[in-house]
Amino acid sequence: MAILDSVSNLPYIGPVYVKRLEKLSIFTIEDLLTHAPSRYLDFRRTTSIATARVGETYTIKGRVVSTTNQYTKQGRQMQIVHLVDPSGGIDLVWFNQKFILSTFKKGLDILVAGEISWFGKKKAMIAPEYEIVSQISSAVHTGRLVPVYPSTKGISSKWIRSRINDAFKIERDNIVEFLPSSILSLESLNDLPTAIKNIHFPEDDESVEKGIERLALNEFLSIYINALKRKIKWVKTINSHELKVTNEQLAKFIDSLPYKLTPSQIRSINEIVADLKKPFPMNRLLEGDVGSGKTVVAAAICYISFINGHKSALMAPTQILADQHYKTLRETLSIFGANVEEVSGSKKIKGDDNVDVYVGTHALLYNKVKVGDLGAVIIDEQHRFGVKQRAGLIRENEKGHIAPDVLTMTATPIPRTIALTMYGDLDLSTLDELPSGRKPITTWIVPNKKRDGAYKWIDDYIDQEKIQVFIVCPFIEESENELLHTVKAAMVEFENIKKIFPNRSVGVLHGKLKTNEKNRIIDDFKNKKIDILVSTPVIEVGIDIPNAAVMLIEGAERFGLAQLHQLRGRVGRGDKKSYCLLFTESYSQKTKQRLQALRESKSGFQLAELDLKLRGPGNIFGLNQSGFPELKIASWSNEKQIKMAKQIAEQAIEDTKKFSKVFDYLSKKQVVAN
Ligand code: ADP
Ligand code: MG
Repeated sequence: MAILDSVSNLPYIGPVYVKRLEKLSIFTIEDLLTHAPSRYLDFRRTTSIATARVGETYTIKGRVVSTTNQYTKQGRQMQIVHLVDPSGGIDLVWFNQKFILSTFKKGLDILVAGEISWFGKKKAMIAPEYEIVSQISSAVHTGRLVPVYPSTKGISSKWIRSRINDAFKIERDNIVEFLPSSILSLESLNDLPTAIKNIHFPEDDESVEKGIERLALNEFLSIYINALKRKIKWVKTINSHELKVTNEQLAKFIDSLPYKLTPSQIRSINEIVADLKKPFPMNRLLEGDVGSGKTVVAAAICYISFINGHKSALMAPTQILADQHYKTLRETLSIFGANVEEVSGSKKIKGDDNVDVYVGTHALLYNKVKVGDLGAVIIDEQHRFGVKQRAGLIRENEKGHIAPDVLTMTATPIPRTIALTMYGDLDLSTLDELPSGRKPITTWIVPNKKRDGAYKWIDDYIDQEKIQVFIVCPFIEESENELLHTVKAAMVEFENIKKIFPNRSVGVLHGKLKTNEKNRIIDDFKNKKIDILVSTPVIEVGIDIPNAAVMLIEGAERFGLAQLHQLRGRVGRGDKKSYCLLFTESYSQKTKQRLQALRESKSGFQLAELDLKLRGPGNIFGLNQSGFPELKIASWSNEKQIKMAKQIAEQAIEDTKKFSKVFDYLSKKQVVAN
């Protein structure tokens, strides 16, 4: 039996349990052995029955002298087992567990573990953990730090514990270390067999920590090495057009713009220019806050593709954003004679048309463009990285296939350490500053008691400056009926706001509206027919309304900081002084600390890092939707480990001989997964 074989090879795991284990993502014996406990019960202390103290937790060794079934006053059944040792006796009590009577036969030597409590006037143990062994040294469920495992319907933690105990006994010698011992001693890491032993059979807290540390490292390591392998394959086997641009040609483009590029825009364009001329396709991620000016970087790519005689395509997540990009690209590129066309539903792309730059939604690629004709593709994403889209562009197995250069743009501020590890096969450019001349947005935290004052202030500000207002409804936790709930919340807020502002025209935007209805509302807002637009949190965040100068966010404490930052970026685009009002009913210190961070001028990346520290990785905006694999043991907030994995992975790629076992292991694992 090998460690990567199915769990069905182990004793007591039949087809029913195989199915149930799948719910815990346990397929192979290795999966079972790396199923990490969520906590441990400390059953290490032993005692004789006479000296056991109420309120303390012990493991007790004893012999069963009687078992009885009794009824409580409420008519519930109660099973009482009397246990003795040379010092005295104690009752073990269960409720409605009739099988206990047949489990504990008179004369049996057993171990029990749990807290001592009063039962009537006597000391007893209520529903203790138990096992029918007489030696502490062979105890699994008592007498030690007993792991408690994440369980699921039809599988108890105790059952998992027994199966892991079996699996470890059988497979112990098949758990093979794959890292060189020099690395282990350098980083003072557990070797693999020790790590697995330590999480299931720990001596103490420290050994648990060491075991977890090693298994977490394994997780990061396999993610990162696989990404590096993809990158190498990409570089070595996939061809692209070599798109070249001279300094003069690039200067001509830059000089044609109505503004001066920011240093990070120039840096990113230079990084891209270097990629484009290579014989293999660019695979780069451009991260930048909303408003940081990503579109012009995209335009530079289209320009370079055009002067090389190739078509290019820009894809946006929504039709509204596609419209906006289309206008920008047409303005920027038509002066060079490039023909920019928007592709929407009805308009089909013909391979032989005279279009140079296509702009459309993500649907564009699947059915309409012949990928091979494209010099470059830019995927603009609001929330997630274009993992799927990229895969669709690169047809690895097609002989002679020339892939386009690909830039994915995202405003999702994934902390750099995470982005670089997870997307080790992507190169990363960041726009970490906003174009100068932007007026700073004043951010206010508005507690409940100042709510009415804030509404009054908004009303006056509309009078004074004829500005417009966004009101964003609270973020609703993901659920099956998420859309329904958010729509409902938006409609309630809409009615509410109409009453508060009887003299203003109020509109509402949510995910249940039809596309043309949505467009009409956005047009009305653009054309100043709507003063106040109530919206759900995620909708159309890309729209550009320069006259909107107030962003009011309800239930601000529920949002991630980076998400609040993005919403705030909707205002401050025109010449009127802009404000962001964070409404909150929470008085917690942490909420205060988080929201105050928004008042300091931090970038989306800094805010994402901060949220990672304060709220943990589960709450990083965009992470859930961004196609990141779920981690079993490791945590995205463990920067030290991410860095260690990166270092080791890079060494491994450099010295594949020394690290050959790692590659053997990963390829075997992949075969299993396929
Ligand atoms: P993003 O897509 O990153 O959110 P955009 O590309 O839509 O940002 O740019 C936001 C606005 O900033 C646009 O109106 C754009 O014309 C403008 N802009 C971009 N770069 C600069 C710059 N270097 N200086 C001034 N304005 C800029
Ligand atoms: Mg954009």
